[in-house]
Amino acid sequence: GDETAADQHQPAPAEIDAAVPHSARIYDYWLGGKDNFAADRAVAEALATAIPTIRAMAAENRHFVHRVARYLVGQAGVRQFLDIGTGIPTRPNLHEVAQQIAPETRVVYVDNDPIVLVHARALMISTEQGRSEYIHADLREPEKILQDPALTGTLDLDQPVALTLIAILMLLADSDDPWGKIRVLMDALPSGSYVAVTHPTGDFDPEAMAAAVASAAQGGMTLVPRSRAEVARFFDGWELIEPGLVPVMAWQPDNPPSDPHAAYYWAGVARKP
Ligand code: SAH
Repeated sequence: GDETAADQHQPAPAEIDAAVPHSARIYDYWLGGKDNFAADRAVAEALATAIPTIRAMAAENRHFVHRVARYLVGQAGVRQFLDIGTGIPTRPNLHEVAQQIAPETRVVYVDNDPIVLVHARALMISTEQGRSEYIHADLREPEKILQDPALTGTLDLDQPVALTLIAILMLLADSDDPWGKIRVLMDALPSGSYVAVTHPTGDFDPEAMAAAVASAAQGGMTLVPRSRAEVARFFDGWELIEPGLVPVMAWQPDNPPSDPHAAYYWAGVARKP
C-alpha cells in the first residue's frame, strides 16, 4: 500500500496478529508494499520459491482490475461496484480508475482482514460526486454484507452493480462453498449487473502450483487453485463477455502478451441476463 503515514491510520484493532501470515499482507509484499510482517514475508518468499514469477503474476492481476474497471465504466456504463477481498490499498485503487472515467461512481469495498480495516479511511477518499465505502465482513457470510448499512446506503440494488472478486476465491475451501456464497450476492443484483473473477489455477503449470499449495499449507494458509471448469461454474447462468474465460493476461489486453499463460490465473467477466 501507499497510504502508510501513521497519522492517517485509525488505531490498530487488537486482532492484528503479526505472527500469523495473512493473504492481504503477502500480496502487499509481492506488490512492493510495506504493510507486512516477518511471518507474511516468510510465506511470500516460500511461494516465490515455488513460483519464481509470482510477483509479476500479482502485478498482472492488478492490471486486470484496471482494465475491467475501464471496461465496465467506460463501455458497459456501470456506476456501482461491490468489491470483495479488496486488499491493502494499491494505487490506483478500483474507485480511482472508475471515478476518473465517471466521477459519480460509487464503490463499496469489503474485506475481512483487520489490517485492511486500518487502511479503510485511505480507501474512502472519493470524488465529491461519487462515494467510496468500506465494510469489514466475510465473503462466507454474504447475507451480512447485503444487509450492512454501508451497502444499503450506498448502492441502489435496482440499478446494475459490478461484483468484483479478484484473487479471493482461492482462499475459500470447497467446503466453504464459494459457488453458493457468491450466488447469494449475484442473486441480489438486477439484470444488467456484472461479475468479474480472477482465480489461480494449476492448469498452466501443475507442478509449480502444487509446490505453491504445499508452501501455503506449511504457513497455515488455505490456497485452492481451481481448474477452468471449476472457475466456469462461478458464472453459471450469466453471459461471459468477450473474450470469455481466459488467462488473465489475455483478457482484453492493452497489448497482446507474448505468452498469455505466464500468469497462472483464469479471468472472466459475465453479465446477468
Ligand atoms: N482484490 C485485491 C486483493 C487480493 S488479496 C487484488 O486483486 O488486488 C485477497 C484479499 O481477500 C485479502 O485482502 C484478504 O484479506 C481478503 N479475504 C480473504 N478471505 C476473505 C473472506 N473470507 N472475506 C473477505 N475478504 C477476504
